[in-house]
Amino acid sequence: MNAETTRKIRLIMHLRSMGISDTKVLSAMERVPREEFVPKQMIDQAYEDIALPIGRGQTISQPLVVAMMTQVLEISDRDKVLEIGTGSGYQTCVLAHLCRRVYSIERHKPLLLQAEKMFDRLKLRNITAIAGDGMKGWPDQQPFDKIICTACAQGEPPQALLDQLKPGGMMIIPVTKDNHQVLRRYKKEGEDDTFAVKDVMPVRFVPLLPNLAPATENADDEFNKIPA
Ligand code: SAH
Repeated sequence: MNAETTRKIRLIMHLRSMGISDTKVLSAMERVPREEFVPKQMIDQAYEDIALPIGRGQTISQPLVVAMMTQVLEISDRDKVLEIGTGSGYQTCVLAHLCRRVYSIERHKPLLLQAEKMFDRLKLRNITAIAGDGMKGWPDQQPFDKIICTACAQGEPPQALLDQLKPGGMMIIPVTKDNHQVLRRYKKEGEDDTFAVKDVMPVRFVPLLPNLAPATENADDEFNKIPA
């Protein structure tokens, strides 16, 4: 067994010990090579339970947080999922193994281009990704069974995202609460706008920001890759 496989197995065992009991989620995470999503100089840390830089001032989320967000959404293979914050595309790939189709939006175009290369490389054909402002959701593709937002909303989640959920659908999103961040799940109870709300765990995410990022935003980040 090589060192990478050993590290990966150790991480999966760690996730189990931290409360990830959904075997479908664990095996989806086992199938996505996280080492291919992190900067070359950090490959040794790819299977540590930590967030890592991906360029443009952004990060690939901590594996436990990826696993927890995926688990609490109770994703089925019939689900149409919207993801806000494609980033490296790692979470997108985990979702793609579990659902029917993932629609993903990223405001940094260079990150999106890099992520799309990974979707091709891993031959994941059920992902549609665009550069844009995910705070507006994806009006042409709504409604969604599940929505996952991997950047932190200031206070309340964007109304457009709540509106684009199907009745019975769920959204997971980090929100600020008394200067802290908490991962929160919203479940749409019916046709009207009532939601069951549950706080899942404290987290630390980059902020959810409006509009497509200008090319100059965080352009001097040392981890930026030049898209080919
Ligand atoms: N899921 C990613 C995590 C990326 S960090 C991964 O696994 O790598 C969060 C991402 O959300 C960043 O790339 C950031 O640019 C993006 N983001 C922030 N606000 C956004 C918005 N309004 N629309 C789309 N993407 C947004």
